[in-house]
Amino acid sequence: MYASTLEKKISKFVRQFGIKRAYCRSQFMYHGNTIDFSILTDPEDRPYINFLNNKYNTDIEPWFFIFCILHEVGHYITVPSLSKEQLMYEYEMRMFRTLSSEDYFSLPAEDLANKWAINYIMNHSQECWDFQNKCYKIMRHIYKKKSFHY
Ligand SMILES: [Zn+2]
Repeated sequence: MYASTLEKKISKFVRQFGIKRAYCRSQFMYHGNTIDFSILTDPEDRPYINFLNNKYNTDIEPWFFIFCILHEVGHYITVPSLSKEQLMYEYEMRMFRTLSSEDYFSLPAEDLANKWAINYIMNHSQECWDFQNKCYKIMRHIYKKKSFHY
């Protein structure tokens, strides 16, 4: 029940950017005009946070949940600016992924989505902070009741 409350809240938030709906799943992902978000931690989170802090000279950790949502929104916003050749390159790199984490995080589409998300947070920090706290409140109920299934 709380998971669907969170889905509704996050869906409402991302609708302002043109995303139709957000689904609570096992990882963050972008699928055209919907996104998936996750309330689980991932072993890749730590290297990803370190990468972001170093590459974009930021401290993303306090913002990490909202950042991950906005990163997927960032794909939706920035994918149209990629050329056909760039999209093919992205596709090949992802399909035949022998990439290290660092190489994956540095793919052009990832870089664009990261920059878009960080920029949005910097320009709307209060909105992002309040929204993330509201999400955390719901997440605490979910963890308490363990009312999520994957
Ligand atoms: Zn991405």
